[in-house]
Amino acid sequence: MPNYDIIVIGGGHAGIEAARAAALMGCNTALITMKTSTIGVLSCNPSIGGSAKGHLVKEIDAIGGIMPLIADRSGLQFKMLNTSKGPAIWSPRSQNDKYLYPGYAQQMLKKTAYLTILEGTIEKLLVSEKEVRGVLFNGQELSCKALILCGGTFLNAAMYTGRDKTLGGRVNELAANGLSDSLLEHGFDIGRLKTGTPPRIFADSVDYSKVRIESGDEHPQPFSHKTSQVRNTIACYATATRKETHAILEQGFADSPMFTGLITGQGPRYCPSIEDKIYRFNERDSHQIMLEPESLKGNTIYVNGFSTSLPKDIQEQALRTIPGLEHMRIEKYGYAVEYDFFYPYQMMYTLESKRLKGLYTAGQINGTSGYEEAASQGLIAGINAAARIKGLPELVIERSDGYIGVMIDDLVNKSSDEPYRIFTSLAEYRLLLRQDNAFERLYEKTQIYGLHDGSEKRVMNAISLRKKLEESLKGIKISKDEANALYTEVQESPVKESELLTTMCKRPAMTLSLIREKTSHLDAWKGTAFDSILWQADIDIKYEGYIARHLADIEKFKDLEHKIIPSSYDYDSLQSLSKESKEKLKKIRPHSIGQASRIPGVSPTDISLLVIDLKR
Ligand SMILES: Cc1cc2nc3c(=O)[nH]c(=O)nc-3n(C[C@H](O)[C@H](O)[C@H](O)COP(=O)(O)OP(=O)(O)OC[C@H]3O[C@@H](n4cnc5c(N)ncnc54)[C@H](O)[C@@H]3O)c2cc1C
Repeated sequence: MPNYDIIVIGGGHAGIEAARAAALMGCNTALITMKTSTIGVLSCNPSIGGSAKGHLVKEIDAIGGIMPLIADRSGLQFKMLNTSKGPAIWSPRSQNDKYLYPGYAQQMLKKTAYLTILEGTIEKLLVSEKEVRGVLFNGQELSCKALILCGGTFLNAAMYTGRDKTLGGRVNELAANGLSDSLLEHGFDIGRLKTGTPPRIFADSVDYSKVRIESGDEHPQPFSHKTSQVRNTIACYATATRKETHAILEQGFADSPMFTGLITGQGPRYCPSIEDKIYRFNERDSHQIMLEPESLKGNTIYVNGFSTSLPKDIQEQALRTIPGLEHMRIEKYGYAVEYDFFYPYQMMYTLESKRLKGLYTAGQINGTSGYEEAASQGLIAGINAAARIKGLPELVIERSDGYIGVMIDDLVNKSSDEPYRIFTSLAEYRLLLRQDNAFERLYEKTQIYGLHDGSEKRVMNAISLRKKLEESLKGIKISKDEANALYTEVQESPVKESELLTTMCKRPAMTLSLIREKTSHLDAWKGTAFDSILWQADIDIKYEGYIARHLADIEKFKDLEHKIIPSSYDYDSLQSLSKESKEKLKKIRPHSIGQASRIPGVSPTDISLLVIDLKR
């Protein structure tokens, strides 16, 4: 039978990263997917990044993944979100061309050495002695040393619009049946989730005089360190639903698959359908709708904020009540999709399953939602599967290293019954986990896997330069007159004596770039090439106190992470543990006291009991 080191099932965003990483690490890899022409398709909104998701994309860039570059190349509009708030939560987002994105993804994969792309649906895993050995592919056995499942929304999937049900994981695509049964057969715990998508309308049927233009940033920033420049080539538009829209939508509730019980899986609470929004926030007369072009050359618009699975006639009538959409024509109706997922408590931080050696899961199959969550898991699974084969150390991103760590830790320990989306509020060390410092956090830890091509040296040089700048700033004293001239400029109160430059920068409105512009103290750092270095140094100085506190907290966090619980530990032997804690601990089998303390339902008292028992 044909042999591969690694087989990746599924050519979505998780599968792309997993297959590419494994192949770049020198493993003979096969990517098997139902339809090779749909590799990299953006099932929902053609958009990458966004709040906290943008952080994930930057982390993928630092580790050496491909999503950031594809997003830059296919990007139509770029925006940094949350810039009115602190730098910790600034998040890059792009609107992308839905045809170019998969096109570039497929091109890049085809050029990857050691990677074979095969078309077909995998229904059965081959397993012996608690270790995965391969898959059954078109009746033929393919063997592998590691298998990465990235099946997305396709396992036993069904789509719904009103009372209409079609089997399939995405419009015009079939469902993957069989794989869930194979997982169940090996004792895995499988659940059901739901997600949905809005209608697409024809761009030439919108009345643009009635909608508000939403432009991209004046100075758009790329995701990837390899991209020197990106451009905004489209505008998006904002409009809103009205009372009348809601009244029409309510008429469809009786036929909604969500309300009739046709769909039982939980949908994403943070990204509700329009019917859900009206039902849950009944007091609101209006909800914002964004009209986002799906491509440069095509004629379709994604109606963001109007995800729905209500009957087609209701979708049509309701959309026509929205300003600007009175004469719109629908290209594709909205629908919901329900699919099987793998409860992520069954995996380790490496994304390898606890039950079967060599089996990894990544992406929406693990109960997450979103391209970025999927891609970052794919990257970690690909690296770890290859590391296992190549005898390299495993890669575990901790909560203090990055949002990827936060997400995986949450998945493993919380293993929720609803789709998981990353948020900045989930990270406790936000000021350290910024979108602008991903390389600083992750490059050293991951460079041994060799996913970079040398272009990252520029970023690392910039980091060294910044450190040099920060060192050089420490001794600079600014005379009283010069300081007060600067303070007047930014309407800050004056000082009575000369002041250290670093003290001045702690004032909210004072920046290094202003000091550079108005004085000669930073003459060595003139020129736009140093802009981002100065900007980051500013953050380091302004938030020095908070950053120091975070670093101290991380030390404590690491201390608990290093208090290891042996894998054979018998929780039943600790009589005083509460029943609930015992059940949770036995189910998740945390590797450390730190991890145990983050499992919901495990009380601090029980953690103390465990610590004492482990010391004995
Ligand atoms: C209708 C819809 C609405 C969505 N709405 C949202 C949303 O509102 N917000 C959001 O963040 N995300 C949404 N998404 C999710 C987003 O598309 C996914 O998060 C993302 O695509 C997941 O990437 P993935 O790689 O895990 O899986 P996918 O992109 O789903 O890719 C899975 C791939 O695996 C292949 N495959 C599956 N099973 C097999 C098998 N047995 N053998 C071979 N190949 C197989 C499929 O052909 C597919 O190529 C939506 C998805 C859909 C379909």
